[in-house]
Amino acid sequence: MVTVVVLLAAVGILVLVFYWSGRYGGRSKVTGTSLRRGPRSHTTSRGRPKVGYPTREAAEVHARLLARRDGAPMNVYQCADCAQWHVGHGR
Ligand SMILES: [Zn+2]
Repeated sequence: MVTVVVLLAAVGILVLVFYWSGRYGGRSKVTGTSLRRGPRSHTTSRGRPKVGYPTREAAEVHARLLARRDGAPMNVYQCADCAQWHVGHGR
């Protein structure tokens, strides 16, 4: 009888842990990712460092080239990590 109670308690804890990790672990992982990455990050969506340009003008020249090549709006932004200018998708 005691074994059954212990077993039920263990299953209950397991369910709670799975529920908790699915709800909070999953969400915090998404939040952390968006905080670290996002549209103005130093790395690409593949996690590699982006090309940096020393000036806004240089980045805009490449942004125009990329926008024409891909047909997608590109934006330039100054990076908080390396203080250079990057080209990113967006408008
Ligand atoms: Zn950077």
